[in-house]
This record gives sequence, structure tokens and C-alpha cells, in this order.
Amino acid sequence: MSGPQRPTGRSETPQADPPGGDFAPLLQADAIVPAPAGVADVALVPDPDALQARALADPEGFWDEIARELEWERGWDRVLDWDGTTARWFVGARCNITVNCLDRHLRESTRDKTALLWLAEDGEERRFSYAELHRLVCKFASGLKELGVGRGDRVCIYMPLTPEGIAAMLACARLGAIHSVTYAGIGAGALRARIADAGARAVITADVGYRRGRAIPLKPIVDEALAGLDGVERVIVWRRETASPPARGPREIDLEELLTGASPRCEPAILDAEEPLFILYTSGTTGKPKGCLYVHGGYQVGVAYYTRIAYDFKDDDVYWCTSDIGWIVGHSSMVYGPLMNGQTVLVREGAPDFPDPGVCWRIAERHRVTTLFTAPTTLRMFMKFGEAHPARSDLSALRLLICAGEPLNPEAWWWAYRHILRERGQLCDNWWQTETAAPTIGTLPGEAARPGWAGRPLPGYRAEVVDRAGRPVPPNTGGLLVLRGPWPQMLRTIWNDPARYAEYWNAIPGAYLAGDVAVRDEDGRFMVLGRADDVLNVAGHRIGTADVESALVSHPAVAEAGVIGKPDPIKGEAIKAFVTLRAGHTPADALRAELLAHVRRELGPIAVPGELAFLDRLPKTRSGKIMRRVLKATELGLDPGDLTTIEE
Ligand code: AMP
Repeated sequence: MSGPQRPTGRSETPQADPPGGDFAPLLQADAIVPAPAGVADVALVPDPDALQARALADPEGFWDEIARELEWERGWDRVLDWDGTTARWFVGARCNITVNCLDRHLRESTRDKTALLWLAEDGEERRFSYAELHRLVCKFASGLKELGVGRGDRVCIYMPLTPEGIAAMLACARLGAIHSVTYAGIGAGALRARIADAGARAVITADVGYRRGRAIPLKPIVDEALAGLDGVERVIVWRRETASPPARGPREIDLEELLTGASPRCEPAILDAEEPLFILYTSGTTGKPKGCLYVHGGYQVGVAYYTRIAYDFKDDDVYWCTSDIGWIVGHSSMVYGPLMNGQTVLVREGAPDFPDPGVCWRIAERHRVTTLFTAPTTLRMFMKFGEAHPARSDLSALRLLICAGEPLNPEAWWWAYRHILRERGQLCDNWWQTETAAPTIGTLPGEAARPGWAGRPLPGYRAEVVDRAGRPVPPNTGGLLVLRGPWPQMLRTIWNDPARYAEYWNAIPGAYLAGDVAVRDEDGRFMVLGRADDVLNVAGHRIGTADVESALVSHPAVAEAGVIGKPDPIKGEAIKAFVTLRAGHTPADALRAELLAHVRRELGPIAVPGELAFLDRLPKTRSGKIMRRVLKATELGLDPGDLTTIEE
């Protein structure tokens, strides 16, 4: 694999001051920025190197000690069983993650602390103390139990970002049911595939979600997805609009009715540590999404720990996460991690720039937000709007800005450091993915940062950059990012597809293949450049080119489709599709619009190509594989490389 272009030199001496004025991007990528004193002085992990040394010297002892900080119904006989592919953590232990998210706090002063502060775009606020959230979750769980939902049942959650959506997750976990949250912006085709693959017995949804001042219908998408799926016995509908039709048909139940009669007492199901907690679907290189499966025991340990150290949780923090429950960040960094740590979590339904580009900063001021977790795309959007917006608000409480999900470019890093954090707080980039389920490589609060670089493996992880044979490559050389050895919260398998799970561990001997291209500097920091496979990262959303291609070819006019990512200043990558048409169809603007609408219906708005071009033929290998590399090179005006395998 050839090394990607990147600056090789860097300043050896830490720089207290960021380069000012018209500095070149190259210079920015070379700076090492010490943590501001206000962050470093109070950091939970004052010496990451010492912690890492301890973790690597005795991984099982390390995790044994950390796991003891949580509550278990029964302790473990062994910390780990590991055969190189399959891991079982905390063997023999019994637990339920909701005990650590909720019950544990009721016996402490956290009982009346705000667990969840939910905001709507129109300014509406709802606040739940730990005791109140516990009550809502128990009622929800009691209601589900009465409907016959229990241990091992799969429940699909297609809900807007609301307390009810979060409570639905926790209620399933309480019963030992397996939730499968599907982002409530995903189209009917993708939703249907996820419900069918999981074999869901129940679906929990709402009539609408709210975004940009509009009610976005969700229920019709669920109806379309469920047509003919007889395995779904119950559809629980939360009506938010008075005009929405009441529940209809024998399998529909109104959520309000379910909660009204439900008992506020619901003992947690006591589960084996390796019993499933949730499935979360993510894109891979085939058109079929992968249902990553996580379990109660290891997930609670790894997620409680890594969110605590990566976000430097303090008792009086107000932690705002701008993700959604539909993504892994929404599971680990919005719901399970912060709640296990007794945090006050702020979540907001809607768009971060609606009703105006200053709204997030007014909220941060009003609620004295200390920690803001957001995506690089969102930072770049704020940067585009300009510094006047954050300048109008008092952001003095903001200690940490956390980013993850896609490469964070140095320009956005410096802009946010100056204009949002005002050089008093720290910006920490973290690399992780659905499969790792918690921050994995990153800059810990208190550690010096190198803008443009995610950071180092967090204590407990061993990461390397290797060639295709698994040999480590020298510093500043591109290669494949791998992790060595298992970690507690990692996915346990792919639902219905154990062979696909095994591929993560079989491609490179003795390592987990993340699917990303990365470089490591002399100090052990990693920069993750992008995917090594045919997966795109559009505004932090992981989208398989194969997903978009199969959606396109499912339209009767399309013969073949090839999809590529193009660099985009805000979204990181934008989708461009090339299609050939079946006989009898001719390229036209109306057809283009129809194809884009078709993708939106199937996959949802996040997967709709920004551009779609009609071609007579697609470049292919002799074996008939579409050469996306050639499409991309031609599109970007680059040398397409070795074309000898192209047939046409
Ligand atoms: P997802 O599984 O949807 O969370 O997407 C994970 C992918 O996002 C990773 O495999 C990377 O390609 C990308 N990614 C996540 N965090 C970072 C980061 N800090 N820097 C660069 N790429 C990232």
C-alpha cells in the first residue's frame, strides 16, 4: 500500500501559542498543543503512559479492577476467555446494565440529580432526575412485558431523539430484550431489511419527529417497511401530534395508553454477562448491513470506563452530545456511558443550525454546558457560519469539546479551539467505530494534542499500522489500522452471520482489521485518513457504496450503478452516482430526480447522492466488477493508475 501524502516533519518543542494569521495548513498539522492548564490540572488521567503501561502489563488484572467499580448480581469466575476470534468477558458473572445506569444512582445523592435534559427546537424543555428516568423506564418495561416482550426478543426502535426513545432502549435492556435502534431518518427499504434480519417481534415508533420546524412523518415509513412482515407482533406508536390517526389494526398499541396503566416497578432481568444487549446495524462492503451484537457485561465495563476517561466526567458536568440514538455514539456516549457515570446529559431534537446558527451557543450558555460532543461536520458547518455566532454567547463553562466519527481537519480544529473554546478549553479528537463501541484512539483531556491527529490508543488498547501481511510499517507511512487482542465492549458477533464477524479477525493474522487507512507518528499518535474499503463517510455517516448501488439498481430504469465519494469541504465526503439505463429508458432530469427520490425512500436522506450522472457504460474488470477507482480518478482528474484489467 502506498503511503498517503502527509507532512512528515513536526515541531519538537511544544508550542504554547497556536500559529496565528495566515498559516499554511501544513504548519497547522505540525503543531503540538499542550492542554490548557484549566483542563490539565483537573484531568482524571494525569499520566496516560503509566496507565497504559499498567493495562498492557496485565490486561485481565486491569479490567478486573475496573469492573469492580460497577454493580453485579454475581461476580465472575474468569475475566476473559479468548480464542483469537471469539471473546467472553467476565465469565460466569450476572448483571443488568440498567442497574448501573439507573438503580445504583437511586441509593446515592444522584437520585435527584438531572439525568436527562431534553430540548426541542422550539425551546421546549423536559428534565428527568435519575429517579424520574428510572420510573419512566420501569413503566415502559412493565408495559412491554405485558405485551409479552421478554428476554432475547428483538425490538426495533425507530424513534426521534427524545426521552421516550432513550427510555425505550433502557426498557428493553431492563427486560433482557435486545434492542435494535434504527436511525429515524433511514428509509423504508433499509428499515425493513433491519427488522427482517433481526427477526424483531416488536417495533417502537412515533408518528413524527421534528426537524427544521417541520413534523417529519415516521409512521408511514414504518407501515411501508412492515408490509408483509408477519413476524412483527406489536407496533407501539407514540402519538405526538393530535392530528395523527389513533392506533389501528390488531398489532398497534398507543404508547401513552401502555404507560398509563403500567407499573412503575419492574425488577431488572438478571442476565449472564454475555447475554445480548443490543444489535446495531452498520454499513460494510456488501449491500447487506451488518448487525453488530453487544452484550451486557463487557459493554457496561468498557463503555463506563472509556467514556469516563475520554470525556473526563466530573460530578457537576453538563454534558451535551449532538449525536442520535440511531448511531453507536448515541448508544455509548449519549445513553449508556454517561448514565453509568451519573452524568447530566443534554440532548436536543432537531438541527443544530435551526432556528438560527447561534442557537447551540445560546443553549451552551444557558445550561452552562461543560462538555460538548459533536461531529467534525458540525464543527465545519459552524466554521462556515463564522465566529460572530459563538462570540455572542458566554461559553466560559465549556471545558471540553469532543469530536469523533470522521477525520477532523486542522483548520476546523484551530477554528474551534480559538472561537468556541477561546483557548481555555481543550478539543479532543477520538477515533472509534460501531464495532469498537467506545473511544479507542484519541487525545485524553489533559494530554497535548496534535491537530489533525486523533491521538494515541487509549489505555487498554494496542493499535498498529500494518501492511497487508500484518507487518508494522514505519512511522509516517500509510497502512491498515489494526487492533491487537480483544476489549470488553467490542461486538461479539454479526447477527445471523458469524462468518462475517470472523473476517474482522482473519484478514490479518492475530489482529482486528478496522477497515481504515492510518499513519502513526514517532510519538505513537494516529491519524486516520479514511476507509480502506468501499465504504464512504458522509457527514460522519458510514454508507456503503454497495448500499447506494443496490438501491439504485432496484429501480426498474437502472441497469447498473457505480457509486463513489468525492471530497466535500463540509461533509468530508459527498456521494456521486453513475448509472447506466435499461433499454427503453433515456437520460433525463425527471428520471434523475426520480432515482434520487427512490434512494431517499429506500435508504433515507443521508444516502442520497449529491450528483448523479448517466453513462453508456461503466468501467469494469474482466470479471465484471465495477471499477469505482477509475470512476473516482476520472471524476477527480487524477491518473486512474493501472487500467490493464479494464475490459471496456
Ligand atoms: P461508524 O462505525 O459509523 O461510527 O464509523 C466509523 C468510521 O468513521 C471509522 O471506521 C473511520 O473511518 C471514521 N472515523 C471515526 N472517527 C474518526 C476520527 N477521529 N478520525 C478519522 N476517521 C474517523
